[in-house]
Amino acid sequence: MTRRRSRRARAQAQGQAQASQAPQAPVIVGSETTEQHPDGDWVVRRVSGAAAWKYYRCPGCEQEIVPATPHVVCWLDDQVADRRHWHTICWAHRDRRNPSGRSRPGG
Ligand SMILES: [Zn+2]
Repeated sequence: MTRRRSRRARAQAQGQAQASQAPQAPVIVGSETTEQHPDGDWVVRRVSGAAAWKYYRCPGCEQEIVPATPHVVCWLDDQVADRRHWHTICWAHRDRRNPSGRSRPGG
């Protein structure tokens, strides 16, 4: 019985060694999903509590997201520079708090 090793794997390793010299780029790692909303396609990335180590201002409730709080980072598909950190619950309810539909008194 003979074991064969893939030649392709070795070629990939060489390619990665070269790529490691690439300049610093704002690479975002983690699981991302794309959600379709009335105002466009939003990329939503989940941030674990362990990865959250800064204070952020949630645009949904105007409150701070304290470190170690699992939350989400969202941005319009092609506007990653404008990404915002949201409480997970605030992002989930974002469509409900539609600013233009604010007609009820006391709402
Ligand atoms: Zn919030």
